[in-house]
Amino acid sequence: MVTHLLGFPRMGRGRELKAALEAYWAGGIDAAALGERTAALRLSHWTLAREAGIDLVPVGDFSLYDHMLDMACLLGAVPERFGHAGGEASLDTFFAMARGVQDGTRDVAAMEMTKWFDTNYHYIVPEFTPGQRLAVVGSKIFDEARQAAQAGFAAKAVLPGPFTFLMLGKSVSPGFDRFSLLPDLLEAYRDILGRLGALCPWIELDEPILAQDPPEALAGPFKEAYGDLARAAGPAKVMLATYFGGIAHNLSWVEGLPLGALHIDCVRDPTQIALVAKALSPETALSLGLVDGRNIWRVDAAAALARIELAADHVGAKRLMLAPSCSLLHCPVDLEAESALDPTIRSWMAFAVQKCREVRLLADAAAPGGPERSEVAAALAANRAAWESRRESGVATDAAVRHRVEAITVDMFHRPAPYKERAGLQAAALSLPPVPTTTIGSFPQTPEIRQARRRAKTGEMDAAAYETFLKETIADVVARQEALGLDVLVHGEPERNDMVEYFGERLAGFCFTKNGWVQSYGARCVKPPVIYGDVSRPGPMTVDWSTYAASLTKKPMKGMLTGPATILCWSFVRDDQPRETTRRQIALAMRDEVADLERAGLRVIQIDEPALREGLPLRRKDWEMALALAVDDFRLTAAVAKPETQIHTHMCYAEFNDIVPSIAAMDADVISIEASRSRMELLTAFADFQYPNEIGPGLYDIHSPRVPSVEEMEALLKRAAEVIPPERLWANPDCGLKTRAWPEVSAALANMVEAARRVRAVL
Ligand code: GLN
Ligand code: ZN
Repeated sequence: MVTHLLGFPRMGRGRELKAALEAYWAGGIDAAALGERTAALRLSHWTLAREAGIDLVPVGDFSLYDHMLDMACLLGAVPERFGHAGGEASLDTFFAMARGVQDGTRDVAAMEMTKWFDTNYHYIVPEFTPGQRLAVVGSKIFDEARQAAQAGFAAKAVLPGPFTFLMLGKSVSPGFDRFSLLPDLLEAYRDILGRLGALCPWIELDEPILAQDPPEALAGPFKEAYGDLARAAGPAKVMLATYFGGIAHNLSWVEGLPLGALHIDCVRDPTQIALVAKALSPETALSLGLVDGRNIWRVDAAAALARIELAADHVGAKRLMLAPSCSLLHCPVDLEAESALDPTIRSWMAFAVQKCREVRLLADAAAPGGPERSEVAAALAANRAAWESRRESGVATDAAVRHRVEAITVDMFHRPAPYKERAGLQAAALSLPPVPTTTIGSFPQTPEIRQARRRAKTGEMDAAAYETFLKETIADVVARQEALGLDVLVHGEPERNDMVEYFGERLAGFCFTKNGWVQSYGARCVKPPVIYGDVSRPGPMTVDWSTYAASLTKKPMKGMLTGPATILCWSFVRDDQPRETTRRQIALAMRDEVADLERAGLRVIQIDEPALREGLPLRRKDWEMALALAVDDFRLTAAVAKPETQIHTHMCYAEFNDIVPSIAAMDADVISIEASRSRMELLTAFADFQYPNEIGPGLYDIHSPRVPSVEEMEALLKRAAEVIPPERLWANPDCGLKTRAWPEVSAALANMVEAARRVRAVL
């Protein structure tokens, strides 16, 4: 069984790519040096993969920013505003597309960036225009294929497939159907395949949209296109790759295609194996994605081998190939670097390098006589032992947590009074003006705050000094908000590095890697917390900071928490129980924090759920159930609050249109949402649904240092007041202000407060 990869992490063990990119952007190294460093990085990744037992290494998965942007550049799809004259985009044009340019003479907006399916990786959204010429102008993937061949690697070139590329792009002219570009695009792909076919034995085209619900009308064109593409590669074989979900619902798209191989994600959907196997034409190999590319746990070798056996029954072992479920882009590089993890928990984990070895192990163990080989037998035994340790370990299970989950009762999901009644009690308790003003939670994380945090971490600053520093920061933030005239204040979150990490560090069942970086976008990486065991809250997490802040003002102080869906979505989650079970445990832990904040006298508590929307399954038919469960966990967290305590929630990343009923079901007293970029348009979805509770539509975009004028925000607020009854309207920015600097924050908030005053005056 041939083993292969769909992609390897790009950053390098020590985030060398990040360092190289930042050095280049800062003018510290030139293009040639960047090229040398990245060529060395690719070589080291191929070497790592081969040494770990991978037969076909990926080429083209590496990128200086993003693979969708690479594809756009390969095809010459450079938007006009970058002033590109045609031909291959220069390195600086490439980075301009990704990051925008702002200098003395030019101010060009970057291309849009959005999340890649249900991952936390962001891709650059290709832009399509009528009459756009799409033809091969780039050379990157060919150069890299040559580099791999010269270094003696058997390689598989990896590209986004044409349908996924178009589907995930956007038409920039209204009404333009980007699929009208398909004939040209396919011709360009045939050209690419022809050239790559001379350089590598395999070419992989990724069509993860098959795991979603692509328009039925494309099924015919898809089949026809892939029939041609499979032939266009000359001597090379074409692999069609799907991942992030099963494709059994779209079998007619792939049935009988003359492919070299079809790759399926058997981690997300093991039940599709038999169905897909039957749909393959006899010459097509079935590539099984059995090792989870989205998580950091060891494969369950016994379960995976059973799946290989099942697949072999259908297509014969000779027609099987083995790989991780998807690109390893979504997991950290090497577990070897983690010396500080608890050794038991560490023994349950596998990062990218270890996952390559797991793929090899499965191939070896499935081969005739494989399990009799002593090294294979030993590795299988080690795998079994790790899983036994995990199943039986007292570290991961907490009987008290399990009992508590079992003892949840229906009333725990319901606030003690309906919103209408609560609103009256809250109005009396808080005595806020109409259209109250507030912020989303964080205030500028100044260089001083970051430095203090760093020094506290290394021990340069002792705990008492750090506490004093944070208290001073909070006092300053409170004073500034009072001076600005805001109505509901926040403490500013200076003690938090990250809204998930902060809680993870204080909850049982979480651990943290030292080097578990995963690319988020460009040079930016995140280090997600790891949830390895039952989650509980050993003690209050935010109460001291919030009560201290509240003691400094007569105005209501908002307690600030992260909701269970978001904590789950931005962590590596244990895979030995359903994700829903883990989220429910988090909800109970956060519920205790709500109760403690309330007991400490906080009368307003915000539970942020920015990831509620992005954590949804790939297929719409699964949304309703998934949303219902996520909403239940939010309610479980919030419903402990008394009727007179005002519960807020916050969501960003727009696109709420289809989920307003679920947002309403959360039953938060107030929700703040990102709305300025859509100029309040998304409020119509709330209005159409007759959203019953209070809403604070974001009045200004916090992603930019631009200070909006009073008139601008006043106009937005008036627009909002046309669709949302003014007595249920709030005024706030789109999101937290941590990435901004004080001068623009003060100016923007002063204008926002004034805009709210003017709107109040005419109500
Ligand atoms: N309370 C958080 C903040 O203000 C919310 C961040 C978010 O929505 N992503 O930073
Ligand atoms: Zn936000």
